[in-house]
Amino acid sequence: MKPVNEPSFRESVDLMFNRAVSLMDLPPGLEEKIRVCNATYTVRFGVRLRGKIQTFTGYRAVHSEHMEPVKGGIRFAMGVDQDEVEALAALMTYKCALVEAPFGGSKGGLRIDPRQYDEQELELITRRFAYELIKRDLINPSQNVPAPDMGTGEREMAWIADQYARMNTTDINAKACVTGKPLNSGGISGRVEATGRGVQYALQEFFRHPEDVKKANLSGKLDGKRVIVQGLGNVGYHAAKFLQEEDGCLITGIIERDGALYSETGLDVGAVHEWLVRHGGVAGFPDANCHADGAKVLEEDCDILIPAALEGVINMGNAGNVKAPLIIEAANGPVTAGADKILREKGTVIIPDMYANAGGVTVSYFEWVKNLSHIRFGRMQRRQEEARHDLIIQELERLDHHLGDGWSMSPNFKEKYLKGADELQLVRSGLDDTMRTAYQGMSKIWHERDDVEDLRTAAYIVAIEKVASSYRAKGL
Ligand code: NAD
Repeated sequence: MKPVNEPSFRESVDLMFNRAVSLMDLPPGLEEKIRVCNATYTVRFGVRLRGKIQTFTGYRAVHSEHMEPVKGGIRFAMGVDQDEVEALAALMTYKCALVEAPFGGSKGGLRIDPRQYDEQELELITRRFAYELIKRDLINPSQNVPAPDMGTGEREMAWIADQYARMNTTDINAKACVTGKPLNSGGISGRVEATGRGVQYALQEFFRHPEDVKKANLSGKLDGKRVIVQGLGNVGYHAAKFLQEEDGCLITGIIERDGALYSETGLDVGAVHEWLVRHGGVAGFPDANCHADGAKVLEEDCDILIPAALEGVINMGNAGNVKAPLIIEAANGPVTAGADKILREKGTVIIPDMYANAGGVTVSYFEWVKNLSHIRFGRMQRRQEEARHDLIIQELERLDHHLGDGWSMSPNFKEKYLKGADELQLVRSGLDDTMRTAYQGMSKIWHERDDVEDLRTAAYIVAIEKVASSYRAKGL
C-alpha cells in the first residue's frame, strides 16, 4: 500500500526536475517551457473481436520538440494513462539529451493486458492503434519514431512499420518510422538486448570509478557482487544474464509478478527465464526459496538492486527498509520522489533511470540512422579494414621469420587482429562509448559541485542544460 502523500509518477518527475532547476541559472520562464508536456493525443478506437466490438484507449504524448523526430516507446499495459505517458515522455526528453541522441521526447501507450489476446487479435489491435497515430503524423520517420517498451517487442514494431509502409507507399524512408524492429524488417543487430546491455555497461563504468563505488559503501569490482533484479522481461533478463555470465555477479534474487525467487548461492538466470516463459511465472522453480510476496525481496540484503519492471515500486512505504547500497534504475521511475529523499538521506547511491536505461534509445538511434542510410553498418569498410590489418600481419610475420627464435606473435593475436568489426560489434562499441561518456558527464557534476548531492540531480542538470541551449540557439 502506497502512503497517501506519495507523489504520482508525473509529480515525481516534476519534483526531481524542480530540484535540479533550482540549482541552475535559467532565463525566467524557460524552466516552465521545458518541464511541461507539449501535447498529448488520446484515441479511443474499436476492433471487432470474438463476435463483438471492443473499445481500446491509447495515448501518444509529445513532451518536447526541441529536436525532431521525437522518440519514445509504446507500452501495452493496464496501468497506462495520460499521467503515465506524460511522465515517461518527459523522461525521454531528458534521456535523449543526456546521451546525445538527437531527438525530442515522446511516449505512447495502449491500455490493454496483452496476455489476454492471441497473436492474431494483437496484430489487429496494434495495426488499428498504429493507423490512428500514423494518420496524425504521430508515427513518422521525421516527426515521431516509437520503439518497444513494456508489453511490446520486435513483433509489434514490425506490424507498425508495415502499417506505416502500407499507408505511405512512396516514402523511401518508411522503415525509419519505428525502431526495435526484427533484423529482417529493417532492425539492427543488438537492439533486443540493448537496454539490458546498457545497464551492464553503466555498472561497469560505475565500478571504474573507485571514489563513486566508495560513496555507495562498496569496494572492489563487479565480480562477486550480489544482485537482486525485479522483472525478468526484456530489460531485466538481459541485464541479469550479462552481469552473471560476463561480470561474475551473483543473481541472488529475482522478483516477478507472481512472487520472488531467492538463493544465497545465486540463481541460474537462463534457467529461471526458461521457466518463466514456459509457466508464465516463477512460482514452482526448483532450487530456490520462493516468496509469495515478491515485493518484500526488494528489502533483502544485497549489493546491487535492479528494479526493471515498473514505476513506483520503491516508495515512501518501503524505502526505509531497502538495504541495497546501490540501486540502478533499469525501469523508468521505479523510485518515487519521496523514496528518493529517504534513500538519499540513508546514503544509498542511485544510478538514475534517465541514464541507466538509455541503452535502448541509443541503439534505436543507430537503427534509425541505418534505416535512413539504407545500408548495414560495417558493410563498406569491414573487408578493407581486414586487408589493411593483413598488411601489418604480413610485415610482422616477415620480422618473425627474420628474427628467428627471439620474437614471436602471441597466440591468437593474428586471428583476433585480422577480424574486421561487424554490425553487432560496432553497435556494442557505440553503446559502450555512449554509456561511458554520459556517466562521466554526470559524475563530474556530482563531484565538482557541493550543492549537487546525487547522480540524479547531476543527470537532470546535464540534460536540462542541453535542452535549454537548444532552445537558446534556435528560439522557441
Ligand atoms: P517487459 O514487458 O519485457 O518486462 C517487464 C517484466 O516485469 C515482465 O517479465 C513482467 O512479468 C514483470 N513485472 C510486471 N509487473 C511486475 C511486478 N509488479 N513485480 C515484478 N515483476 C513485474 O518490459 P521491458 O521492456 O523489460 O520494460 C521494463 C522497464 O524498462 C519499463 O519501466 C520500461 O519503461 C523500461 N525500459 C524499457 C526499454 C526497452 O528497450 N524495452 C528501454 C528503456 C526503458
